[in-house]
Amino acid sequence: MQNDLKATITHYLEDRVSAVGFAPVARFGDAPEAHHPAAVCKNAQTVIVLGIEVPRGVLTSPGYNLHTLHRAYHTVYRQLDEISLGLCNFIESQGRHHAVMIPSYAPMAFHGAEPWGLISLKHAAVRAGLGAFGRSGQMYHPTFGSRLRLAAVVTEAAIPGDPLIESDPCPPKCRACQQSCPAGAFAPEGRFEKMKCLGHTIKHAIYPLALKDANGLKHIERVINTAGYDYWLACDECLKMCPNNR
Ligand code: SF4
Ligand code: SF4
Repeated sequence: MQNDLKATITHYLEDRVSAVGFAPVARFGDAPEAHHPAAVCKNAQTVIVLGIEVPRGVLTSPGYNLHTLHRAYHTVYRQLDEISLGLCNFIESQGRHHAVMIPSYAPMAFHGAEPWGLISLKHAAVRAGLGAFGRSGQMYHPTFGSRLRLAAVVTEAAIPGDPLIESDPCPPKCRACQQSCPAGAFAPEGRFEKMKCLGHTIKHAIYPLALKDANGLKHIERVINTAGYDYWLACDECLKMCPNNR
């Protein structure tokens, strides 16, 4: 019965997304309580992770790499949100199971100034068998590398999971992401420091005005999730240098 539902959902998504994977909630045992699928959907049983690729050509555009990356990301975010909303309604139309969408980008939940997805989409993608973590801290799909943008649906329908990918996506001696990073966002042992990257990369005209003092920062969640939605990307050096993205 639940295999039927998996086949029905896979068929529904076939021409809509580049990749889809299923992760039973039992695979989220080490997720923080506030960012566990059960915090999103009551009686959560399965996380369905969807991905749409950003075209490779964006990363090699000679004059407009960051312009086209900006538009590709923000177009794909909305496309993924529409698909995951539609998928929730589709699952609920199939029977008695509730389903809740995870936004592809915002709204996010903030811990101080640090943004967190409602659940971590890249961790969910790994748990759904879509890829494995590379040395950059990003999730790499065997075909699309880290060019997949992600969204997810959490449902109380129990659906069999997909096999995990255990292999390391990084060639043994590659350090191209770390060597190319102008922000020093990788600690000497290679650990990715998210806030260093975000501070260097994510820009928006409203941030210097709305987040210029402690009073503004008190409302950072509201500012970034509303006025700051269509952010600018000032860097994608690690994406361009990574052999998994070519
Ligand atoms: S996007 Fe830029 S700042 Fe962030 S990790 Fe990659 S190279 Fe470093
Ligand atoms: S640049 Fe090299 S080390 Fe970094 S994620 Fe890509 S393959 Fe791995």
